Amino acid sequence: MPLLELDKIVMEFEIGSFGRKKKVRAVDNVSLSIDKGLIYGLVGESGSGKSTLGRVTLRLYKPVAGKVLFNGQDITRLPEGKIRPLRRRMQLIPQDPYGAVNPVQTIGEALSEPLIVHYGLEASEAMGQVKTMLENVGLTPAEDFINRKPFNLSGGQLQRAVIARAMLLKLEYIVADEPTSNLDASIRASIVKLLLDFKRKYDQSLQFITHDIVLLSLIADKIGVMHLAQLVEEGPSDEVIKNPLHPYTRALLSAIPLVSQELGFEKILLKGEIGDPANPPTGCRLHPRCPYASEKCAKEEPPFVEVGIGRKVKCWLYTKG
Ligand code: SF4
Repeated sequence: MPLLELDKIVMEFEIGSFGRKKKVRAVDNVSLSIDKGLIYGLVGESGSGKSTLGRVTLRLYKPVAGKVLFNGQDITRLPEGKIRPLRRRMQLIPQDPYGAVNPVQTIGEALSEPLIVHYGLEASEAMGQVKTMLENVGLTPAEDFINRKPFNLSGGQLQRAVIARAMLLKLEYIVADEPTSNLDASIRASIVKLLLDFKRKYDQSLQFITHDIVLLSLIADKIGVMHLAQLVEEGPSDEVIKNPLHPYTRALLSAIPLVSQELGFEKILLKGEIGDPANPPTGCRLHPRCPYASEKCAKEEPPFVEVGIGRKVKCWLYTKG
C-alpha cells in the first residue's frame, strides 16, 4: 500500500524582480507513489526538479495544483498547524548538513529539541536518547560530540548527527536529498549503509534523490527519472537499469563507462546542455538534444504511458499512433 502518493503535482516559483517577474514551473504534472518500507530513487541532472519534488512530498512546498496524500490523507492544503504533527513522521535529510542545524545550538541541543517539542520528553530524558543514538551512528564517545557546535564537526560527522536526529523521531518517511554528495568518497558508503540499516530497522519508506543512477541501482526498489520538471521514465530499478527505454535514461547510463560496456544497449550522447526550466522546449523537452527526435517530437508532448507492469515512459518511440 502506498505511504505517499502524488497526483498531477505542479509546482511553480516566481523569479526576477520588478516588472521582469516570470514563473518557472519546477515540477510539471508529476504523479507517483511510494510504498511502505520501500526505497524510491529519483534521478536526474541538476535543474530537473527532483529536489523540489522531494520537498513537495513533505509539504515543505505547497504545490499550485495536484494532490499530496500521506497514508491516504490529503495533506495538500493543510494549514501549517496541522502539518506540524506530521513532521515527527516525515522529514528531510538535506544535501548540506551545515544548513540543516541551528549554528548556535550544540549538537545535544539540536538533537534533543525535537524530542522535547514533538514527544514532550524531559530535557534529561531526551539527552539520554540523544547520546544512545549518537553512539548508534558512530559518533563515539557521544560525550565528545554533544557539547560541540556544528562547525566543530566535519561534514561526515555532521551528516551522521543529522541522520541521528531523523532516527530519534522514528520517522515513517524520509526524503534523503543527495545526502552524500558533499562528503568524501571514503565515507559516502558508510552514510548510505547507515540510512539503509535504519530504514530496515524502522520499516521506513525512503525517497532517495541523487544524480548517481548507479547508486540507485544498488539500493532502490523503484526508480523515477526526471528531466526538466517532468517524470520521463519509471519502473522497478533492475528493469530500468538493465533495459532503459527513454533516450534520457540511456544517456545517463551511457555516461558511465563500465555500466554502458556491460549493458547491451546502444550508447547515447545528448547534444548540448539541459534546457532552461523557465523556457522549456516545445513538444518533448528533450527534442533539441535527442538523436531520435522527429518533427512530431518538436511539436507534440508525448504522454507518460504504461509499457509494462509498473513501467512507464514518456517518449513517442513507445506510444502507438
Ligand atoms: Fe527523443 Fe522524441 Fe522520445 Fe523525446 S519523444 S525522447 S525527442 S524520441
